[in-house]
This record gives sequence, C-alpha cells and structure tokens, in this order.
Amino acid sequence: MSPNAEAYRALLLDHAAGASSPARQLLVETHLRLRPSARDLADALDVAGGALLERLEPEPVAARLHGAESARAPSGAPVDALRDARALVEAALHSPGHLNWRWRAPAMREVRLPAPGATLLRLAGGRAAPKHGHAGEEVTLVLRGAYADETGRYAPGDIAFADAELDHSPYVPDGEECVCLVVTDGALRFHSLLARVANRWLA
Ligand code: ZN
Repeated sequence: MSPNAEAYRALLLDHAAGASSPARQLLVETHLRLRPSARDLADALDVAGGALLERLEPEPVAARLHGAESARAPSGAPVDALRDARALVEAALHSPGHLNWRWRAPAMREVRLPAPGATLLRLAGGRAAPKHGHAGEEVTLVLRGAYADETGRYAPGDIAFADAELDHSPYVPDGEECVCLVVTDGALRFHSLLARVANRWLA
C-alpha cells in the first residue's frame, strides 16, 4: 500500500469511528459527496471500525466513545461552527466568486473556516504556489479545477496528503484556477521571503 493509500484509509477509519476533528469530518463528508464511489470503502471501514470497538473491553469502549463525542461537540458552539463551515464549502463548490477571499501568499488566496485547521484556498492558474513544508499533516481536497505537484495531479474529489517529509509547490495550469479545502494539523512553512513574511502577519 502506498503511503497515500495508507493515510487515506486511516482518514476514513477515523471518520467511521467518530474520532475525526470537525475539520477532517467536513473534508471527508465533502469528499464522499464529490466521489460517491468512495462510499463503498467508507462503508466497509465503518463495519470494520464497529467490529473493532466491539472487541474492546466495555470500559475502554465507553471512555473512547465519550472522548470522541466530546471532541466533536464539547458545547453547542462547535456544532454551529461546523454548520457555518459547511455553508462556506458549499459556496466554494458552486460560486467561489461570492466568497471574501483574502491574500495569503503570491498566487494564493484563502477563506479561513470556523473549524480549527480548516481553510479554503484558491490558487491562481499559470503560477506555482509558494514552495512550502509542513509542521504536521496537510490533507487537501480539490473542490474545483485541478493542481499538480511533486506527488501527482489532483482533480475535483481527489484527496492529497502532505507531511513533514514533503516540500511542494502546487501548480495550476494557465487559464484555470483551483479551489481546495485544506486541513492542516500544524502551520505551513513557506520558503520564500515574501511568503514567510505573509505567514508571520497572518498566523
Ligand atoms: Zn502543502
């Protein structure tokens, strides 16, 4: 199994177990809408996840379920935040021009979502986004358009994974643009001076 396939299965398995952060929950939900064929794997992992939980001792199961529940909705606020984030993703899918995009780095604009670690990125065509590394794992779901980087080409519904091992500079073909939902566990580390300065202002 390639590292990407492994990361993908882990993402779906966490989702099935209810152990995903709200940001990852949003990303997987949107992925399954854009790529209905992925539901079969998601359903199989759901069954596997359920079987795994049943085999654990009763007490840890209760503790685990309680932990997952409180991570998802410790109070009413995160539920509202997730609903707002869903609405922004919906707008990015259908009418990205209506969103209030802010300059993030050269050739890159963003709308931060009210789910920690989740952001919408809009990459301009014909230019590479600034080369950057990652402090944690970065999961990218393409919503519109397509981009390519050192690891491959990604189209709507595709998920790409990047971690501390990967430095990349996503590139969008000339005349197109790409809109993505990106979930990061740590800050991006830009390499160019301009992008690094922007990173300090906007962090
Ligand atoms: Zn990246």
